[in-house]
Amino acid sequence: MVKVVVVGSIAFDSIKTPFGSVQKALGGSGTYASYASSFFSKTGLVGVIGNDFNQNYLNLLKRKGIDLSGVTVNEKEKTFYWKGEYKFDLNSAITHETQLNAFSSFKPELPEAYKNADYLFLGNISPELQLNVLNQMNKRPKLVLADTMNYYIQKNPELVKKVINEVDIGLMNDSEARMLFNTNNLMTACKKILALNSEWAIIKKGEHGAIFMTEKEFFSAPGYPLENVKDPTGAGDSFAGAMLGYLASKNSVSQKEIKKAIVYGSTVASFNAEGFSLNNLQKINKKHINSRFKEFKKISEF
Ligand code: AMP
Repeated sequence: MVKVVVVGSIAFDSIKTPFGSVQKALGGSGTYASYASSFFSKTGLVGVIGNDFNQNYLNLLKRKGIDLSGVTVNEKEKTFYWKGEYKFDLNSAITHETQLNAFSSFKPELPEAYKNADYLFLGNISPELQLNVLNQMNKRPKLVLADTMNYYIQKNPELVKKVINEVDIGLMNDSEARMLFNTNNLMTACKKILALNSEWAIIKKGEHGAIFMTEKEFFSAPGYPLENVKDPTGAGDSFAGAMLGYLASKNSVSQKEIKKAIVYGSTVASFNAEGFSLNNLQKINKKHINSRFKEFKKISEF
């Protein structure tokens, strides 16, 4: 039975970093998040592909055990395509080209079997669609995480705030938080997230880890000291997917487990950054994840 439902983009990505490049590799927010979640829990993906999608990529997701009954094919359009580049500052992607293609008319429809899931990730789709998906659930899931991106913040910041209001955790990175709340101070941004009816605020800081705040507590998870970064694409999505997959595996949303989930999220995101597309995630298993999780613990203790 699907425990975690992920909704997001499924893409062809062409990416260039100082360490190499790939053309039309498998990408997309939904792809990364569902793959990362699957290390921990049975996950279902909701997204759209076009008439040019590569069967090998579908097989790769199937082999990971991802339920694809929520993936639809738009025979009239091509698959969403994103072309991006990172310079030495790997925290900010430069978008060269976005072809929405099949994604532009995407209206996510949850398969019946997904509507009772307890864990839901609303990846990078418009805030309207994120709210629509939430309303399709038969019951309120135990935990709903929503991602956002600068494109939607610029377009309609109030609607992005409404999504944060409706979900349990509105995930964003540091630059998105600064933009949404018009502040350079991330503590202020966390407080503004909490003021939006959120029990938890989590802000991702790319290679520098993530911060977590509640009314009573503050926690800072370090970034893993990677020496061999190749491509940070999908780091945010694999962080979110691994977090949610881990929490679903424990069936708990206690503060203690959320903190561990943040470190699991950072762990899987760090593996992801060591290869282009999903190449490195395909090489690792739970053993690698648990061993790096322990190293994370070591480097943050004093
Ligand atoms: P991340 O690096 O976690 O922020 O996400 C990277 C993924 O987001 C890439 O694989 C892209 O295919 C996907 N992406 C880029 N732009 C968009 C967009 N406008 N909507 C949805 N997904 C996108």
